Amino acid sequence: MVEVLIVGAGFSGAAIARVLAENGLRVRILEQRPHIGGNMYERTDENGVRSHVYGPHIFHTNSERVFAFLRRFSDFFPYEHRVLGRIDGKLVPIPFNFTSLETLFPAQQAKRLEERLLAAYPGREKISILDLTSSGDGELRAFGDYVFDRVFVHYTAKQWQQPVEEVDASVINRVPVVLGYDDRYFGDKIQAMPADGYTALFGRMLDHPNIALELSCDALGRLSLREGKLYLDGKEFPGPVVYTGAPDALLGYRFGPLPYRSLEFVFEQLELDSFQPAAVVNYPNEEDFTRITESKKLTGQVLPGRTTILREYPAAYAPGAARGGIPYYPVPNEANRALYERYRGALAAYPGLLLCGRLAEYRYCNMDAAVERALDAAQELLREWAPRKTEEKA
Ligand SMILES: Cc1cc2nc3c(=O)[nH]c(=O)nc-3n(C[C@H](O)[C@H](O)[C@H](O)COP(=O)(O)OP(=O)(O)OC[C@H]3O[C@@H](n4cnc5c(N)ncnc54)[C@H](O)[C@@H]3O)c2cc1C
Repeated sequence: MVEVLIVGAGFSGAAIARVLAENGLRVRILEQRPHIGGNMYERTDENGVRSHVYGPHIFHTNSERVFAFLRRFSDFFPYEHRVLGRIDGKLVPIPFNFTSLETLFPAQQAKRLEERLLAAYPGREKISILDLTSSGDGELRAFGDYVFDRVFVHYTAKQWQQPVEEVDASVINRVPVVLGYDDRYFGDKIQAMPADGYTALFGRMLDHPNIALELSCDALGRLSLREGKLYLDGKEFPGPVVYTGAPDALLGYRFGPLPYRSLEFVFEQLELDSFQPAAVVNYPNEEDFTRITESKKLTGQVLPGRTTILREYPAAYAPGAARGGIPYYPVPNEANRALYERYRGALAAYPGLLLCGRLAEYRYCNMDAAVERALDAAQELLREWAPRKTEEKA
């Protein structure tokens, strides 16, 4: 029986493991944390509130294939995510929409701006803030500058510790301006949350007789790479290795560390029915933190008189440090992509190694994209390794 080694028990590693296991391959997973689920892991506190330990994770997708796969391991309840932002002392919908406009501008001016926006971008439901700040219409440009300043400039400086002009346009374009009243944060046709949480979903996904899981095990202490071959515990590993960790760490940071931004979450338990009117409230401007998440508004738990909130503080990434020790967001720019390509190029010398996931591919990806990529990767591996298994049987 072919054995496959997988480093990491997040969505990338777990989805591949499950598909391979169901197709008769034996899978060994090494996970450095003491728990499964990667960054989707949740913890239930003394109040019974389930919180996303590594930041709020909302499932949304247009992929029926991904949703069908995940629904095998959990029921989901419909959940449409709405975010408010504190701007000029008022709570308004983010992404900025017509309700935000009408809350912050005098009625007549708001009406005029809405008419001009609809006339300038006919048939469009969303535009990029960069469309607005470069508009040929002076009034729309001034409006764009206002939104850019209040929603993007300070938030981006906090989050990325860089002036907004230096941040990749792909980051700025993640949050559009909505030409209407749709106040949902995501536009995907499937928006839902796992009924009893992600950790339970992962538990069921990994519960298969062909999957062996080792927690609290840093693969870097067990796995070595020499002259095109992969070794586990000093012995050549004959099967494929799927690596969902950071590629610079795997090569001992030989070309220098890949830059990341980190986060720090500060939890607070409160004796309240409700702390804030939405699951997430952004604080783009004055505060040091970027947002507050109220956990039970994401999990759908009904817990009168008890709630848990988490404040999210951006932090410099410092590998191994107590604060800022976790790589959360790759910093997208040309130099960093080139650095990543050097690592990928060096690792291409190991044909048995497959890089998969947000760290291994050094890119921000939502959960659904991670699962979709994992399902494709599993098919790739099956094409190569499942026939060999049949031959071995014969
Ligand atoms: C703050 C934040 C919020 C997000 N919110 C959303 C959201 O709302 N919706 C959404 O769709 N997506 C969201 N995402 C994206 C989502 O987190 C990713 O899509 C997902 O984490 C990808 O899964 P993964 O398995 O590739 O990575 P991970 O979940 O990071 O899993 C990788 C695993 O590998 C393990 N590992 C790494 N190195 C080693 C090693 N040397 N040895 C052993 N194990 C190792 C890690 O411990 C980890 O468990 C968010 C991301 C962040 C940072």
